[in-house]
Amino acid sequence: MDTKIIPIQLEKPAKSAAWFQTPAGEPRGFIQPHALDELWFHTGTACNLACPFCLEGSKPGDTRLQLLRFADAQPFIDEALTLGVKQFSFTGGEPFVAKDMVRILDYALQHRPCMVLTNATGPLIERLKQLKPLLQHQNKLHFRVSLDHFDATKHDIGRGVGMFAMALQGLRALHDLGFSVSVANQMLADSTPAETCAGFVEVFKKAGLPEDLRRVEFPDFHPPGLAVATPHISANCMVTYQTEDTRRAYMCAFSKMIVKDKDKMRVYACTLVDDDPDYALAETLTESMKEPVSMKHHRCYSCFRYGASCSEM
Ligand code: SF4
Repeated sequence: MDTKIIPIQLEKPAKSAAWFQTPAGEPRGFIQPHALDELWFHTGTACNLACPFCLEGSKPGDTRLQLLRFADAQPFIDEALTLGVKQFSFTGGEPFVAKDMVRILDYALQHRPCMVLTNATGPLIERLKQLKPLLQHQNKLHFRVSLDHFDATKHDIGRGVGMFAMALQGLRALHDLGFSVSVANQMLADSTPAETCAGFVEVFKKAGLPEDLRRVEFPDFHPPGLAVATPHISANCMVTYQTEDTRRAYMCAFSKMIVKDKDKMRVYACTLVDDDPDYALAETLTESMKEPVSMKHHRCYSCFRYGASCSEM
């Protein structure tokens, strides 16, 4: 008897109705991805710190998202290269809690420049010796260090006593080794933009860092899974208040993020939506690039209103 092998078509999980429509019944705004310029990896939600405002809900031993292993990352690095990726970026949790982190960076740097978001405290400081040889790659490795506030006491309220000084120590060590560095801080409600800028310049000067160190500011994204009321973004909003150029600047238009969850690797739309399974677009990058991205997450409003982006590209 003639037998044929029929490939099984796995059904994608259905999206919620809110993916397509606002509560007022209007068509939801969408972003159509145009490129994979940057590929992010979530290294897991385990962190050495437990900041109450963390958008990932990270803390010591946290397993909401699993630690990334080399064997998890390598196939996506290889696939991304076939899609023309220009940079690999890594966020956590604290990436240097993941034991394969330096090996993953070593592989990724053989192909493209990389960026790591870090709190620059214990886990990074302990691995500075392992990081130094990565300077030999032709592709550059950039670190972005979180400093919530220019005032050490205010920074330490969320991160723990002594963490401001330790983060500056890590930042300075990276700079002295020859890595390029930048700083991320929250938008501060208790000081004007000019005061914030002057405050950080003073901190950088005292630490022996360049006064004009690049600094990226973020709004409060709120902890994961929180129902935050924000205005809904309709398809009409995306053409009335946005242009072709601004739509192309959304992270979900030119990047993706790889997440390990329940022993499965998934491609998410961006770095800000891994608490919502609707944003798990596919299991391969190639498939994920075909999926329009809904603006239904409350953090999408930060992109819409403030142009928020984790990217430095
Ligand atoms: S949070 Fe921003 S980048 Fe992410 S899916 Fe929403 S609009 Fe796109």
